[in-house]
Amino acid sequence: MYSAFFQSPNFGYPKGSFGRGGHEIIAIGLHISGAHWESNYHHIMNPRANASYNAIIRDDGSAVSLVAEENAAYSHGRVDRPTWPLIRPGINPNLYTLSLARTGSNQNTWTPEQLTGTLRVLRAWGKKYGIPLRRPYIFGHFEIDGQGRWYCPGAPFFNRVIAELGAAACDPAPVLNRTWQRVIAGSFKRLDLARVRNELLRTIGFNSFIARHVDERNVLWYRVVAGSYLEQENALRQARAIQALGLDTFIIPHTERS
Ligand SMILES: [Zn+2]
Repeated sequence: MYSAFFQSPNFGYPKGSFGRGGHEIIAIGLHISGAHWESNYHHIMNPRANASYNAIIRDDGSAVSLVAEENAAYSHGRVDRPTWPLIRPGINPNLYTLSLARTGSNQNTWTPEQLTGTLRVLRAWGKKYGIPLRRPYIFGHFEIDGQGRWYCPGAPFFNRVIAELGAAACDPAPVLNRTWQRVIAGSFKRLDLARVRNELLRTIGFNSFIARHVDERNVLWYRVVAGSYLEQENALRQARAIQALGLDTFIIPHTERS
């Protein structure tokens, strides 16, 4: 799908953190880059810019990966007068969304290849992450920052993409019944022990978090979640990486409820 891969230093919260802080990807945000590719590239590779996208579609329709999908980009972290119905208060939206930009600074014009390229990536991501290809799962930056980014990605392009995807209607009641494979790197009855494990994992670069779990005997456990994946294969790979550190690890299915 990608014709080139680059690694922007602008990813993760705090910066440089891998993963998404335990958040699952639920939606895709669209952007206009505001410039030509060469200029975008230099900006996004500049560690002081604090700007990036997971991917960008160039004028010729080719897709470039800038922040690996499993990591959070610096695309739409500023929340100001949001209208997006899936917003999670207090959580940086980059952590639970992917971002896709197209090059250009004119909202009203785009190349036919850019439209095709955008649709191709949206369909691939939708399939890979189980994201419905319609609003509000596909959203515009203007829905997160209605004040500062009202023009991003531009209504004509955004509406055209939504129309091409086949459904312009807004779905105000999302139903998220996907089952994720959660990688558990330790389950503890004592919260302090779970915290020690969680800190250890975070120190070595895993973006883990603690989840409460009540078992069938009504016992409360603190589980250290070190990743969740739609595909078993990816969960197994993560579990093996943690097991290699000598830590007990298991995988359990987790169905999210909206
Ligand atoms: Zn934007």
